[in-house]
Amino acid sequence: MLHAKMAPMTEATLVSRFAPSPTGALHLGNARTALFNFLLARRSGGRFILRIEDTDAERSSDAYLEALVEDLRWLGLDWQEGPDTGGHSAPYRQSERTGLYADFQERLLVTGAAYPCYCTPAELELSRRTQLAAGRPPRYAGTCRELTAAQRRDREAHGLVPTLRFRVQPGAEVVFDDIVHGPQRFATDDIGDFIVRRADGSAAFFFCNAVDDALMGVSHVLRGEDHLANTPRQLLVLKALGLTAPTYGHVSMIVGDDGAPLSKRHGAPSLAGLRERGYLALAVRNHLFRLGHAPAVQGTLAIDAMAEAFDIGRLGRSPARFDLVQLDSWQKEAVHGLTDDAFARWARAALAAVPPAEQAAFIAAVRPNVVFPDDVAAWARVVFGDAPSLSEAGVAVVRDAGGAFFGAAAAAAAASGNDLAAITAAVREATGRKGPALYKPLRLALTGLDHGPELAPLLRAMPRAKARERLIRYAG
Ligand code: GLU
Ligand code: ZN
Repeated sequence: MLHAKMAPMTEATLVSRFAPSPTGALHLGNARTALFNFLLARRSGGRFILRIEDTDAERSSDAYLEALVEDLRWLGLDWQEGPDTGGHSAPYRQSERTGLYADFQERLLVTGAAYPCYCTPAELELSRRTQLAAGRPPRYAGTCRELTAAQRRDREAHGLVPTLRFRVQPGAEVVFDDIVHGPQRFATDDIGDFIVRRADGSAAFFFCNAVDDALMGVSHVLRGEDHLANTPRQLLVLKALGLTAPTYGHVSMIVGDDGAPLSKRHGAPSLAGLRERGYLALAVRNHLFRLGHAPAVQGTLAIDAMAEAFDIGRLGRSPARFDLVQLDSWQKEAVHGLTDDAFARWARAALAAVPPAEQAAFIAAVRPNVVFPDDVAAWARVVFGDAPSLSEAGVAVVRDAGGAFFGAAAAAAAASGNDLAAITAAVREATGRKGPALYKPLRLALTGLDHGPELAPLLRAMPRAKARERLIRYAG
């Protein structure tokens, strides 16, 4: 008995989904796939589904699933249906849909669209190698295609547990339009009969991925280009079952700056890795949004503006380059846009060394110069830590400015409450110095560095005793 619960929907409802396998940390390629599908639904007021493809029990884990949900929420995505939210196509974990798959597999068996295959892994491997050695692409040899009922009984009597294999009709073509790649044609002669149920009873990817899209009413699938060649098999399954296929779009792969598929050595860790380094979701989203997608709108976009600007007509075919420099420039913008409260939350650990009364002044002073919480921590050490030690060149600059310079500076700092204008006026009067000759020694003495945030606000955040102490050191 088939219980095809087609989603009740109007013609116009767009339904997209993200269908990860919880077998590891969410990497950037999958995060982008999730974002694109989310935006596609969002821009048209449609539904976005999170479906967990965990039929591979050995590689899937609940811990990965939990991390996945946390990562997606952190990225700012939400879904109308999913394992944690429920919905009318529940359950949303494929491991809980085995009974449902069994009905459809039975139907494939009964109609002859699929057949039991008794080949052992060793036999299949041998056949594969033989074909490769003969210079042919390896394909299922068709060994069990035409077994009689008696032959099947015989194999089962010998304890062989069959897989269920889909029968691909030879001499035909599978034709479809890909949103990104345009018209596609695949000869069925190039597609070997493939497994829809493994010997352990679990449903295979081609089968459950396709069936679930149909049962959940998915209208659009955006996914990685590595799945393009899987699509014909999935369309064959859907056709054999009389189910409606979604429209597919296969988005380009993400590569590193050397053109190789993105990996850890490109400085591109998992989404969680980026979050731990202090990247803001707004920055990550804005970079992902532009990987393989060329929106007409520039600048940092909030979620709704991003959904509006998302355009499947602007998905590109060439590999998309992940660029840490670009990501960091989005990050810089995102940090500038934080409210003081959000900044304080973002850099909470780094701000532990900052006296609460100085926090607002300190944030205002360093914000233009920080990209990561580590930068905030570094400036907190400069302003609130021990007096800095100078490089040899720094010492020379300070010595050259002389004792009178710093004597005037320290007195003015104490009298004015760290007012840079008052300090420079006093030093100018005492020494006749101006421009860099005036500012550089001050900055060096106060911060130990010859670069950094604007000095006036930084100095205002600095405890007065510290400023005085740092200036008076060189007054003698
Ligand atoms: N579980 C598959 C993957 O993570 C889903 C592919 C798809 O989106 O159809 O690659
Ligand atoms: Zn076989």
